[in-house]
Order: sequence, then structure tokens, then C-alpha cells
Amino acid sequence: MLSVMSALSNVNLKTLHSAGDVRRGSARKFFTFSRKIFRGGPSGRTRGEGFEIQIKYSQIWYDCSMRLIDSHCHLHDTEFFGDLREEVYERAAAAGVGMICVGTDERSSTQAVQFAKGHADVWAAVGVHPHDARLGWSEIGRLLQEDRKQDKPNIVAVGEIGLDYFYDNSPRDIQRQSLESQLQLAMEYHVPVSFHVRDAFDDFWPIFRNFPGVRGVLHSFTDSKENAEKGLSHNLYIGMNGISTFTKDAKQQELYRTLPLEKILLETDAPFLTPAPLRGRMNEVGYVELVAKHVASERHISLDEVTHTTLQNTRTLFNI
Ligand SMILES: [Zn+2]
Repeated sequence: MLSVMSALSNVNLKTLHSAGDVRRGSARKFFTFSRKIFRGGPSGRTRGEGFEIQIKYSQIWYDCSMRLIDSHCHLHDTEFFGDLREEVYERAAAAGVGMICVGTDERSSTQAVQFAKGHADVWAAVGVHPHDARLGWSEIGRLLQEDRKQDKPNIVAVGEIGLDYFYDNSPRDIQRQSLESQLQLAMEYHVPVSFHVRDAFDDFWPIFRNFPGVRGVLHSFTDSKENAEKGLSHNLYIGMNGISTFTKDAKQQELYRTLPLEKILLETDAPFLTPAPLRGRMNEVGYVELVAKHVASERHISLDEVTHTTLQNTRTLFNI
């Protein structure tokens, strides 16, 4: 045991991390574990105990190491995070938070796939946001096709796609076309969808119903109870983020409090929508924990129950 430990102490974490590209599954386990050792207590004894546990229950350890998944963030996107990407990633990883990096256009979707490829516990969603629908979406099908040729695919969803009639940054007919084409891709590749729908549910539902069997999440849901119920009746999940921690709208608060826990996915939408009490700062992936804490306190249940159930929900929907 000691000799393995001293060998380990010479291992460079950066080397291990890039080894994840080659044999991701095992390298990931090892990486998580080594991080724990190096960041563990200062005494040799504490390190030794941690090591023993890992050897005995490596699989269990690995399964427990990720406590939460931020089901919708934009950490991969250099337009938002630039040089901060690695720093923010490391903080999330150290807190046991995995993430789904969601594309908003062709460039950002390509970056999401690359980022997922190089980082443990990161998955990608590819898609063109309704804001950017006018710029085209042909690359999305190609990304899915390429990804399926890999030993370990990184793309777990199509998104974020939908309709946004609040900003109307793209003409509405182009938004609808883009949504339909990308829903077609979700069906073809059997992946769920991260939906962005704002002030457009009346047009959204008839389109959605034309693609029976498509599963997904209504990301950053802020609409009416009626539309939440429609979503649930179509077996969709509801994405909750920082908005739930700072909205003053009593109806919204009531809605967030009463959604069935087993249908909620937690998300940050980082760098946007920083949860209370950190309003004013740039949002980051690790802050998804604040959303979880808020859900727990609003419902008078334990944080563990919230993290456990929502983690399971995210794994179920995205098959991870
Ligand atoms: Zn987003």
C-alpha cells in the first residue's frame, strides 16, 4: 500500500487528466481519486485511509464522487469564459459537480464537444438557439454524425433549441424551421432535447407534438403553471436555475415549490442567472449547489434528497 502511495505522489495531475482522452473511464476514476488524495488532509494517515477506501470500493467511490450535474451551462464557450474555463471547471470538479455544456450556435456546439472530450464528467449538447436560427444549423447534423463514430460519444442531447418570441432575434418562421429540423435530428439520433421556449408555447406545442417520443427538458422554465403541467403530461422535465432563488413573483415561487422533485433538473445557465445570494457575480457551474439548497429549504427536505433525486433525473434523461 505504501509503495503505491509514494508512486502516486509523484504523478503529475495534468498528465493524468489528459490520459482521460485515451481511456476515459478508468482514467477518470483514477483522476477523481488522486485529486482526493492530493487535496485530502495534510497528514499521511488521512491520505492512507482515503486510499484504502478507494481500493476496496473503487466503483462505489466513483459513483458517489459526482454529487450533482449542472444540466445546462455554457462553460465551454470561449465567448463567455475565455481563460477562466479551466479554473471554473476545477472548482466544479472539486465540489463533485459534473456538467452538460450546451451549444447555442454552430461554433459554440463544436466547442462544447471539444470541451467534453477533454474533461471528465462533462457532456455536450449541440444545437442552434432560436436567437441564432437565422445563421443556419447544418453543422449540427454533422457533429452528431461524427460523434457517433467515436468509441465514447460525448454528445448526450440536442440543444438548446426552441422558440423565443420575447426577443425575436431571428424571424419567427426561421425559428420554427430550425426547431423542426433539429427535432428531426434528435429523433434520428435518439437523443433528448434541451428546449429554450420564451413567450412562444402556443406555437411550440403543436410542433413538439409532431415528433412523438422525443424526450427532453424545458430549460430555465419561467412560464405558467398550465404550460408546466402540459410539459409534465408530455413527460418533459423542468429545468430550474438561479431564477428560482431570486424571483419576487409569488406565482413562480409557488410553481417551483410544487413541481414534482422527480421531474426537476437543476442547472445554472452559467455565465447567466447567478443564484442568490451571489447576485452581481458571474455565474459558474459549482453554484448549482445554491439552487439545490434553495429547493431543499423551500420544501423542508434534506439537501441530500434534492441532490440525489435530481442527479438521478439528469442521468435518466441524458442516459449518463
Ligand atoms: Zn443556456
